[in-house]
Amino acid sequence: MNRFLVYILSALLLSAPHMNAQELSGLARFLPEGSAMKDRGRDVQLLLNLSQTVPYRVFTLDAPRRLVIDFREVDWGGAGAAKLDQSDRISEVRTGGFRPGWSRLVAELEAPMALKSVVMARQADTGQAQLSVVLQRTDADSFVATAGAPASGDWPVPKHTPKVKNEGRITIMLDPGHGGIDPGASHDGHEEKVLMLTFARELADELSRVPQVDVLLTREDDSFVSLERRVALAHQAGADLFISLHADALGQGHAHGATVHTLSDEATDEASALLAERHNRDDMLAGVDLSGQDDAVADILLDMARAETQPRTERLAAALVKGISDKGAPLNRRPHRSAAFSVLKAADIPSVLIEIGFLSSKRDFANIIDQAWRIEMAQALRDGIVAWMIEDEALSRVVRQ
Ligand SMILES: [Zn+2]
Repeated sequence: MNRFLVYILSALLLSAPHMNAQELSGLARFLPEGSAMKDRGRDVQLLLNLSQTVPYRVFTLDAPRRLVIDFREVDWGGAGAAKLDQSDRISEVRTGGFRPGWSRLVAELEAPMALKSVVMARQADTGQAQLSVVLQRTDADSFVATAGAPASGDWPVPKHTPKVKNEGRITIMLDPGHGGIDPGASHDGHEEKVLMLTFARELADELSRVPQVDVLLTREDDSFVSLERRVALAHQAGADLFISLHADALGQGHAHGATVHTLSDEATDEASALLAERHNRDDMLAGVDLSGQDDAVADILLDMARAETQPRTERLAAALVKGISDKGAPLNRRPHRSAAFSVLKAADIPSVLIEIGFLSSKRDFANIIDQAWRIEMAQALRDGIVAWMIEDEALSRVVRQ
């Protein structure tokens, strides 16, 4: 039996005979008191206190090296794991929702470390649980050899009903940036993931009033959705447009105003390259890397699809910039930029990533948390999209003739 399964089973066995009414009713809560990740001699130990035992699994992943613990539904509370990391050999600990019904903890390792012991103990009197995970130094090769997610396939995969396409209608996939374990940027108590879900709903509301438009969202709640999955959802839905919504933070007060990003291998500028890198990295840290190598034939087909999609994408970006400018909303001094954003990689769907503003800019921040301003921005984007639809339809008619 593989060892990941053993951990899950042991957790189940531990909890099952002792279930009481309280345990059955509530979610397990993270208890910050006494929880920490500390150096212990040559080892690193994570002690995590929970209000009750839960099924869990523990594994390591490479590139970047990290420890991952999945739990069945843990409420991390407001502070989350902010104070957990007290080890010199751990660079960061993150906690949050992962998939519906599952929570995740990710600890980024400064050096290759292997699992030495994993124990979840339950206190008979309180019913509380303590998970102890001990890591020990190992060499890089051994780390790679043992790293990897358990292939147990026990994630409950959400079902998607295939969409029946109506002639003359277009489906727009809105993608609220970040979510769950990945909060995105934050400023003054506001998180990008929350603001963008709110804005996506407001924009969906504006777009759904356009007669030929159907709108879908890549996430409807505060859950983590990998970048790869966001693209896959657009494909599954047969989406005609993919629009990722963000309000990131950039240092040095450089970024102000709305910016529309498209995909390119070479970034137009350093700030865009940094944004793409950060988004791709946050995704890697939170999620399981499933990137497979495309074979040569698939590459050629993708290139052909991209060649057809790219001019449509460029026109979409231009129409969105015009929509924002016509509304008089603040635009970045260089409003159309490009970089290697993984979430824009659908070869056959015009895809853009919009920073509606930057949380790091004082003026933008005040705008983004103001509902009246957001509605104006949603209308500006709607106008841009409608202008693009008209242009795209006219051009495709020319092509068909
Ligand atoms: Zn973002």
